Amino acid sequence: MNEKTDIKSMNLEELTQFVTELGEKKFRAKQIYEWLHVKHAYTFSKMTNLSGELRKRLEASCSITALRQEEVQVSRQDGTRKYLFALEDGNLIESVLMRYKHGNSVCISSQAGCRMGCVFCASTLGGLVRNLTAAEMLDQVYAIGKDTGERVSHVVVMGTGEPLDNYVQLVKFIGMLTDENGLHISQRNLTVSTCGIVPRIRELAGRQFAITLALSLHAPNQEKRRELMPVANRYEIHEVVDACRYYFEKTGRRITFEYSLVGGVNDSKEDAGELCKLLSGMNCHVNLIPVNPVRENHFIPSDTRATAAFKEKLEKNGLNVTVRREMGCDIDGACGQLRHRYL
Ligand code: SAH
Repeated sequence: MNEKTDIKSMNLEELTQFVTELGEKKFRAKQIYEWLHVKHAYTFSKMTNLSGELRKRLEASCSITALRQEEVQVSRQDGTRKYLFALEDGNLIESVLMRYKHGNSVCISSQAGCRMGCVFCASTLGGLVRNLTAAEMLDQVYAIGKDTGERVSHVVVMGTGEPLDNYVQLVKFIGMLTDENGLHISQRNLTVSTCGIVPRIRELAGRQFAITLALSLHAPNQEKRRELMPVANRYEIHEVVDACRYYFEKTGRRITFEYSLVGGVNDSKEDAGELCKLLSGMNCHVNLIPVNPVRENHFIPSDTRATAAFKEKLEKNGLNVTVRREMGCDIDGACGQLRHRYL
């Protein structure tokens, strides 16, 4: 069978080349791009400013990615909405809408499953199934905007998967999501979270996007990090922090370090002191997250006292710290839990 062209994963440049190769004028690409990424058309027959003949040719040779909404859980506490979407091949992914004062933020998945193996994370339990395409990442944002009828102003790539393990599609996604011809979300309102794939962090720095890079650190030293995150066997903690310093030098964008507080594991005074040393002199932000318990593991979140003491120690050392407000605790809260229930 002839594979159809994934037209929704093409950026405007690629689409322009594609339509000119079909013998069409350049401006057709802009029209098609607008149908796909602004008006969210899911069939070529909707694209009424194209000739009937072009529509037929596109129909025959291209596919338009469309996620199917399988389930949505709505938090009664804060209106957080957690979506389960089916991809065309039947794989399931999840995305979350969080409502903040500063706007609506959508958390998207970058892969079906994950191969990074962090011990506290539900997303990695079934391993990696496959990378998502740029269109599958974009459509999570589009589908949620459409479902709620509300504008999405912020996007975080913090759902299932390791975005820098799907680097090519991720970079394309960033370009397309923030393209003025598309949804035009500000690069400043986009955050990409990584477990620390050093060469890709450096490569991404070179692109000089104005996005925020969040680095999942979760430990103050190499020994403890290795116990929690297998990726630390590949990249040593100082290498990771150096790559973050480089990212800041290149882009001027302050790194957010994510640190999940696990009771009795990484939340002591000594841990806080060591973390201060590790990050000393860095213009960064530390986001403390009491670990979200997952049925398959035995981790418990730090209590309020330990969390407050940890935060205070960092602040005394001049670090900028927040404790993440837990949203949607009454729905399958932790990363990958909703999807995992269906596997
Ligand atoms: N792979 C990327 C992005 C997905 S995970 C990364 O590692 O950053 C998004 C964030 O949620 C990461 O900081 C991850 O470590 C964290 N996380 C995963 N499971 C968690 C849990 N049970 N409790 C708290 N944070 C968790």
